[in-house]
Amino acid sequence: MSRGRIVAVVAGGCAAALLVVGVGVGATALMLFGGGSTALTGGDCGYDVPAGGPEILAATGAVPGSPSPTPSATASAPARIEPIGQWATEQVGNAAVVVAVGRELGVPPRGWVVAVATAMQESGLRNLPGGDRDSIGLLQQRPSMGWGTPEQLGSPEYQARQFYARLLRIDGWASMRLTDAAQSVQRSATPEAYQRWETEAEAVVAGVLGVASVDLLGGGFPAAPCGVAALSAAVVPAGTWTTPVPAAIGSGFRTPARPGHDGVDFVAARYTPVHAASSGTVLTVLCNASTGDCDRDGGMSVRGCGWYVEILHADDVVTRYCHLVRRPEVSVGDTVAGGQVLGFVGSSGNSSGPHLHFEVHLGTTATSANAVDPVPFLARMGVPLGA
Ligand SMILES: [Zn+2]
Repeated sequence: MSRGRIVAVVAGGCAAALLVVGVGVGATALMLFGGGSTALTGGDCGYDVPAGGPEILAATGAVPGSPSPTPSATASAPARIEPIGQWATEQVGNAAVVVAVGRELGVPPRGWVVAVATAMQESGLRNLPGGDRDSIGLLQQRPSMGWGTPEQLGSPEYQARQFYARLLRIDGWASMRLTDAAQSVQRSATPEAYQRWETEAEAVVAGVLGVASVDLLGGGFPAAPCGVAALSAAVVPAGTWTTPVPAAIGSGFRTPARPGHDGVDFVAARYTPVHAASSGTVLTVLCNASTGDCDRDGGMSVRGCGWYVEILHADDVVTRYCHLVRRPEVSVGDTVAGGQVLGFVGSSGNSSGPHLHFEVHLGTTATSANAVDPVPFLARMGVPLGA
């Protein structure tokens, strides 16, 4: 204990979880709970990491704050580190270092997810001896680009510090798409590549912390800092209807200029939550884009409605929600309440900018033949649109 260093933290609003990172190979971790008023914030979602949960943050012999970081490729991980999904013990151990350093520095949990996703892309969460050109290590940082000496960069803990230092200097990083935040730091030749690791990184960060979801800590998607469930609190009674987004309609149903437009377009900012118009069952969750990629903005030359959801309601009514910014928050077969958040506004698929394309169909399967104008339909259901 006397050789340990107290590093962190609060995960929710109240209790402070103090973590002691041991020194040296075979380090042990110990969790204590107390009321530390100087604790770093880990989110403001009112969630406390449960006792007996995150006991594994001390992951290697590298000590946060050590003036001379030790290469930790050979450091043994404590017994608490266990494989998570496709990630083996060594990889999870490296993720735990990244999380521990982020907590120590007071980086919001979203940053831990960004850093872990970056490491997944750069090194597969491995402390690599080399890489492209003079890139080294977990985050593939380069001595020639001023990241540190090769010896320093052999330490995942050192690399994590360098990453966070640069991330925190970027205005608005916490509300960026994950790949944009990561790219602002990494300046990679493939700036979109980090995005595909978002879900995996969220799972690994939650896993090393011993919590069910990073949303509980405020580590999730920017539009849902405390989890999608928190955004879905205001649902409407079963069988009643509501607007999918509280926004004006920019393009109507089958207008003279767009006779094939089988829905209406709500003009709304990227990341605006999209709500189920009424209670029902999730019929469809798909990426529909001629590029095959819905995790980046589409365009007018792209076909398909991008990430989309269909909900089956009573009386065989089907609603469809298109161009979502990322994989929707619901799965096929889920029962949803009216008003529940299905996903977030984006511009995937055939889209010229962020908006929600919304359709109503009278009957399954939803086709152009059974599409009806959502405006009079919802008006009949007591929902005036276009505010
Ligand atoms: Zn449209």
